[in-house]
Amino acid sequence: MLTITNYVNGRFVGPTSGQTFPKIDPATGAVIAHVPDSDERDVAQAVEAAANAFPSWSRTPAAERSRLLMTIAQRIEDRLAPLAEAECRDPGKPLRLAKTVDIPRSASNFRFFATAIQTFHSEAYRTDQLALNYTLLQPRGVAGLLSPWNLPLYLFSWKIAPALATGNTVVAKPSELTPTTAHLLAEIAQEVGVPAGVFNVLHGYGHKVGAALVAHPRVPTISFTGGTATGAAIARAAAPLFKKIALELGGKNPNVVFADADIDEVLKTSVRSSFENQGEICLCGSRIFVEASLYPSFVERFVEATRRLKVGDLLDPTVDQGALISRAHFDKVTSYIQLAKAEGGRILCGGGPAKGVGQRCQSGVFVEPTVIVDLDVNCRVNQEEIFGPVVTIAPFRTEDEVIRHANATPFGLSASLWTQNLGRAHRVAEQLECGTVWVNCWLLRDLRTPFGGTKNSGVGREGGDEALRFFTEPKTVCIKY
Ligand code: NAD
Repeated sequence: MLTITNYVNGRFVGPTSGQTFPKIDPATGAVIAHVPDSDERDVAQAVEAAANAFPSWSRTPAAERSRLLMTIAQRIEDRLAPLAEAECRDPGKPLRLAKTVDIPRSASNFRFFATAIQTFHSEAYRTDQLALNYTLLQPRGVAGLLSPWNLPLYLFSWKIAPALATGNTVVAKPSELTPTTAHLLAEIAQEVGVPAGVFNVLHGYGHKVGAALVAHPRVPTISFTGGTATGAAIARAAAPLFKKIALELGGKNPNVVFADADIDEVLKTSVRSSFENQGEICLCGSRIFVEASLYPSFVERFVEATRRLKVGDLLDPTVDQGALISRAHFDKVTSYIQLAKAEGGRILCGGGPAKGVGQRCQSGVFVEPTVIVDLDVNCRVNQEEIFGPVVTIAPFRTEDEVIRHANATPFGLSASLWTQNLGRAHRVAEQLECGTVWVNCWLLRDLRTPFGGTKNSGVGREGGDEALRFFTEPKTVCIKY
């Protein structure tokens, strides 16, 4: 049993309240850790430590900051096994996925921004032999970073690395449902010699410690990834304090399949984009639109492939899908399956709790991968984010029609588009309302590209120079000569 602690000013400390709450393993129902129930008093201490560390860290040469981030990346790789095990157990994802995606990508995040900061540069203009203007890009101070449970260390590090690289100090809060890898990252930061106060981690509930961090007047920068309703609450709290915020929020992403696509490839990738990580990825394509001539055979083959997915013990290397994050989330996901029936949908496979998940996981929360057809584009199941292994499929006849359907939700995070017609790929990609369009692929990420959403999927962009700019304040210097 692990006792998680906060990490403040270079030391591991319990919460001021002295209280903890249990962390439940969603695959077994067992209590596996005790999590600090932190509050505004812990925020005050962590922010003070971060603010005190800021002057020195912001003046530390970029090469030295880069070296420390590189060392963190190396230590993450050295500890692949224990980190992957924690990342599998906390959210209930297959160990194979944690080992091959979550932890390697977390190391890549540190390595990427360690390199990017070395070439980050600003603009300069000469004004008709009168003056030289140049832009300083300066760190903003203490950054408050809040992340969700679905890709815990992957998304946590995606914020921490650029914030530290640019010379900000950090108070970071992981999800209360997935605290362990954040705790292990704090151990790594201490080991590699990140100066005290530069990187602080607070654990606890969002409405307590998260809200206090967002509201703290000495935290001018907030980067948040999570649900749309939480994002709206954060925007409301941050606006009167004129904070700079980035919000990466929910999605309801369309996956558009034209009849000329390479169908074998579409099927293989679409099963992944529907059900990878139990469908608990903001970028999952949860609404599949298939051109009418292909629709019957596509549905048949997609359902066949879905039935072959193995749901079960996360430690089994042959398992495709693990547990959902919590009992509450299980109830939410299964309630949407019931709603789909009420809305006139037909369940072609799945539709309830997964059986045969193995002895160890008898008390876990597992849902069968579920495929639903015959639903209206505007029904709730097709409009609201379910964030589980549930996908709907619908036919379309024309390009205009499918663009309308794809855009007909309040969300705008990503889309996939499958066609061999180059003109159509460009045309449709331009008209889809979202932050990323994948053509003939899904989740192929280049860390240099801007990443984020439009509409209710968020504000601002992460990734590459966008992240470095977000965590810095431009100052124009004009010198007359
Ligand atoms: P959530 O909004 O419940 O929580 C996210 C984080 O915010 C947690 O650390 C939580 O403790 C904290 N929090 C909660 N209430 C808060 C408040 N009032 N003030 C400050 N902090 C608060 O989200 P979740 O359930 O952890 O994650 C799932 C959601 O995240 C889904 O909607 C998913 O689409 C979204 N997500 C988006 C992206 C993206 O890049 N756009 C990536 C992953 C997940």
